[in-house]
Amino acid sequence: MIHQATLARPVKFAGVGLHSGCMVHVEIFPAAPNTGIIFHRTDSALAYPVLANPFNITETSLSTAIGSGASRVSTIEHLMAAFAGLGVDNAYVRIDNGEVPILDGSAAPFVDQILIAGIVDQAAPKKFLVCKKSFEIAHGDHLIRMEPFDGLSFHCSIDFTELSPVIGKQSILTMFDDKTFSKFSEARTFCHIKDVNFMREKGLARGGSLDNAVVVDDHKVLNGEGLRFEDEFVRHKLLDCIGDLALLGGVLKGKITLRKSGHALHGEFTKNIMLHQQDYLEVHWGDYKSLGHIEKVSASAGL
Ligand SMILES: [Zn+2]
Repeated sequence: MIHQATLARPVKFAGVGLHSGCMVHVEIFPAAPNTGIIFHRTDSALAYPVLANPFNITETSLSTAIGSGASRVSTIEHLMAAFAGLGVDNAYVRIDNGEVPILDGSAAPFVDQILIAGIVDQAAPKKFLVCKKSFEIAHGDHLIRMEPFDGLSFHCSIDFTELSPVIGKQSILTMFDDKTFSKFSEARTFCHIKDVNFMREKGLARGGSLDNAVVVDDHKVLNGEGLRFEDEFVRHKLLDCIGDLALLGGVLKGKITLRKSGHALHGEFTKNIMLHQQDYLEVHWGDYKSLGHIEKVSASAGL
């Protein structure tokens, strides 16, 4: 049987919020089996704990935010991706601000902190969400689709030619597991320098710098150290999706196709899946059996 997992002990760290520019302190605690991932604002007595769940999504324009009542926490996706990639099912995240720190713009610093704390198996069986019927949401040429598949695979493509030819078109096809996760967890978020200037005029991106995002202009990457991967942009988009799909609250098994997708599309997808869960997902506890056709995808394809 495959068990649920949580942190072996609490861990704390701090960093700047991308949009607020405030120093944010985060503490992650172990949680009991079947708790899920719960965010708790410690800077307000009115703030209720908020479960990371598609129905609690409140905002998807620049990042994924969840909220309930007076509580709201944004930019949860890279931390959620770290939990999903490391197989952490249960944790309490105590945070003294409304925005998870951006750190280096990837999930790697969260992965490092969780690994410093250690991960332990729990008595309860792990929850698997196995796709039994295809489902997709498409708006124009923006698409997210899930199909039955033996494992979890992603085919992700982006086209930012209009934003900058430096990013252009990229695609990646890969299986997702603990061995491939580090290839995505280190990929940083990105933006065009003109968007940085525009957001700053609106009072956003106050904490943004070349230390926490890949910034491009029309001709080059502006970060002195360059890119971590040639296709870092599409890898980061895939990382965002992994974090957003983690709100489903189980280990997803299916073939995921992403075309020019983003947080809004991912949020609409997970909400609809959860609303009609019995139609599209079969819940397996402790292990999973494939319900779909088996199609070979190389674990290293595209990496
Ligand atoms: Zn991101």
